[in-house]
Amino acid sequence: MNEIVLKGVPAAPGIACGEAFILDKQEFIVPPRAIMEQEVPIEIARFEEALNKTREEIQSIQKKISAEISEQHAKIFDAHLLVLEDSVLIEEVIKRIKKEKLSAEYIFSKVLKRYVKLFSNIEDQYLRERSSDLNDIGRRILKNLMEESRLHEFENLTEEMIVIAHDLSPSDTVSMYNKNIIAFATDIGGPTSHTAIMAKSLGVPAVVGLKDATLRISNQDYIIVDGRMGLIIIHPTEETRTIYRNEQNRIKVLKDRFDDIKDFPAETMDGKRVSILANLELPEEIPIVKKYGAVGIGLYRTEYFYMNRVDLPSEEEQFQAYKHVAQMISPFPVTVRTLDLGGDKFISSLQIPRDMYPFLGWRAIRFCLARPDIFKTQLRAILRASIHGNLKLMYPMISGAGELRKANAILEEVKNELREEKIPFDENMPVGMMIEVPSAALTADLLAKETAFFSIGTNDLIQYTLAVDRVSEQTAHLYEPGHPAILRLIKSVIDAGHKENISVGLCGEMSSEPVLALILLGLNLDEFSMSPQSILQIKKMIRSVSFKDAQELAHKVLGLSMGQEVQEIGTARLRELAPHVFTAGDKK
Ligand code: PEP
Ligand code: MG
Repeated sequence: MNEIVLKGVPAAPGIACGEAFILDKQEFIVPPRAIMEQEVPIEIARFEEALNKTREEIQSIQKKISAEISEQHAKIFDAHLLVLEDSVLIEEVIKRIKKEKLSAEYIFSKVLKRYVKLFSNIEDQYLRERSSDLNDIGRRILKNLMEESRLHEFENLTEEMIVIAHDLSPSDTVSMYNKNIIAFATDIGGPTSHTAIMAKSLGVPAVVGLKDATLRISNQDYIIVDGRMGLIIIHPTEETRTIYRNEQNRIKVLKDRFDDIKDFPAETMDGKRVSILANLELPEEIPIVKKYGAVGIGLYRTEYFYMNRVDLPSEEEQFQAYKHVAQMISPFPVTVRTLDLGGDKFISSLQIPRDMYPFLGWRAIRFCLARPDIFKTQLRAILRASIHGNLKLMYPMISGAGELRKANAILEEVKNELREEKIPFDENMPVGMMIEVPSAALTADLLAKETAFFSIGTNDLIQYTLAVDRVSEQTAHLYEPGHPAILRLIKSVIDAGHKENISVGLCGEMSSEPVLALILLGLNLDEFSMSPQSILQIKKMIRSVSFKDAQELAHKVLGLSMGQEVQEIGTARLRELAPHVFTAGDKK
């Protein structure tokens, strides 16, 4: 078989070689999975459960619509409920599972396809339009069936595998933790999609945005994932395998070289000290955070705590989780970010209508301000945990002072409630905000007067400033952290923060790229927060340069017109200043 190279978007560094495991979620392309005779009742039960779950979902949507819009509108979903009661369809699926001994999702997808086709060929317009109802409800059922079987599939992975999927939901990536998954690759996704972020936090190489990897790779194909270059090599020749094996060893040697600085501060050669903290998605990552010598958590993405479950976490559960993280990281600080739902992170326990443009829609602080019940529960839990360590609180997606004040007012209400109930909390817990919306960056001078600290979220700031979807593979090449507009915004936010004597950090992926981190150092950033795996490399870089050199570089690149020039000039300068900080395959 010939070697085939696929090019995608680099998402998480490293190299992995192994067998492919295809997780195909494109709703209608469900791979057949043979089952044994004794599994037949299990598959039928799974199918029936998926029907029940779908019915509950639709009924709760109906309830919401009827309360918020009208009963008339809610009736639209009656047609969907009818499909769930259609005994002909249900019987056919059950009969075929018994006869063909194939998985429920496979049989259902086949039956559904046939029905949709039948309906769409009918002359009567009314009935023809029913095919789209059928399609809709079918996808929903399939989703419920597939999600379950996916979790199931990860559990059963006994060999090390490379997961290939059309897309991975946040709950997929969370459930990959501690499983035998050595890398993953997806058809869709951009450089700072949650998939890429999770790959980094899982410490596995990943490539996203491959467009049709799920169609070109088959189960058990031997493949190589090159996470730095964004390549997948299918059926590599013996020569390619040897090259990559050597490269893997070289990366390991280069990485080990950084270990000796774990307990040293991030201080430049001329005495400028900054802090390097870790981004945390799951408490399970705490040992890694410690291993790499982070001096705290600069961003605790709490939304992952809400995933992979059918209900919302209670105040007590959240309290226990935040307390645990606070205690484990103490005396270092933990910056807990309040729920940043939306964009590419959805929670199955909340039936939220999808916006046409989710990143511009009802997300993060907007959602929390509209749902104070959910917001307050989280705030209470964070406040209660604040006496068990060094906690800070941070709001995501603030677009201006109005939202900041509203969030603070709710926080104040919660504090009053706790005071009345005589429940202790840290009265002095710092409350900061993320700067990830251009309007916030442009008004940072005003916001700095009303907040304890800034944390720049470049993953979003870049997408909103450059109008480039952060999860799209089509526009990934336009997603430029070094774009002059971004550097100028960052500089003005840092300067505005410092003018009001507040600390300014950055917790987007940008802080873990050595060249960009050098520029950020020169722009006088105080805190760098990143996936734990990147910490030592960035610390090595900081300890190898002088602040003066970094400032000169920052000054120089601020005058350039294009992101590409910034990258080129920055790389050339870092190569002069500290050639040893590059690992194999770092962006050239
Ligand atoms: C960001 O936007 O830069 C950020 C750190 O938040 P998230 O990636 O979770 O949106
Ligand atoms: Mg963000």
